Amino acid sequence: MLTKFKKNKKITIRSLQVHAAHACNLSCSSCNAFSQFKLKGLLEPSTLTKWLGDWEPRLNVKKICLLGGEPTLNPKLVELLGVFFKFFPRDSTQKVLFTNGFFLLKHNGLERALREFRIELRLTVHSAHPTYLERIKPIIEECQRWREVSFLVYNGSGKKIPGIKFREEKWTKRYHESSDQITPFTDNNPRASWEVCPSKYSMQLHEGRLWKCPMITYLRLVDPALRQDPSWEPYLRYQGIGSDCSDEELLDFSLKEDEAICGMCPQEKISFSKGYPLRK
Ligand code: SF4
Repeated sequence: MLTKFKKNKKITIRSLQVHAAHACNLSCSSCNAFSQFKLKGLLEPSTLTKWLGDWEPRLNVKKICLLGGEPTLNPKLVELLGVFFKFFPRDSTQKVLFTNGFFLLKHNGLERALREFRIELRLTVHSAHPTYLERIKPIIEECQRWREVSFLVYNGSGKKIPGIKFREEKWTKRYHESSDQITPFTDNNPRASWEVCPSKYSMQLHEGRLWKCPMITYLRLVDPALRQDPSWEPYLRYQGIGSDCSDEELLDFSLKEDEAICGMCPQEKISFSKGYPLRK
């Protein structure tokens, strides 16, 4: 069992994720947040404050992550990290910023904010292409010099990066993509899909509601012209849960493992290469 009532009645959530920006500067295929499709939307610090104000009194969050899309596309990144710290000042909540790193050094005061707000920095490498590695390497080297900032590089590119220590990551396919359409898997085995799902503990906070995972949350933001397959319809009806829910409904939501919506995902891990993700 992953979540449970504690004595103070707060419900424990393993991981809660918030998008600072839905768009991404990269164009990786099979992104679990559909961010390669130029989604729109930046999170305001006042909006994040409202959402966390509604939920924090009811949740014991073990880990909260700011990501996207690419969160560094949001000019108010440092302020958003401050909101994380305001609501979760103790280390009992792990606070993490995920980024591909390209715009990381453009944010004044970020290094200090990461240190003061006790935010961990996780940089994901999305390609082994020499041009990509050449651009990202100096940024990684600069972050490695930041003192008292927890910094890790995750590399799913399948190729070693000389001089950089990293954790290996494996990328798997999330849906089918043709030149102008995305379509869901039709394996019809929600339990098996959930078992192998890399996002199964990635609850989202979006529009003030809690959602099971990135895919079911951000599918609705994809241009309808790109998701014309009627098989998406039941998944687009999913609404997550709002903060006006009862404690019982919240507990039920937090305990759910596989459910019907997991039918849109593959029932086994399908490894793949993202190709060259730098946009022209
Ligand atoms: S719908 Fe289920 S299997 Fe698919 S990404 Fe979400 S949690 Fe994972």
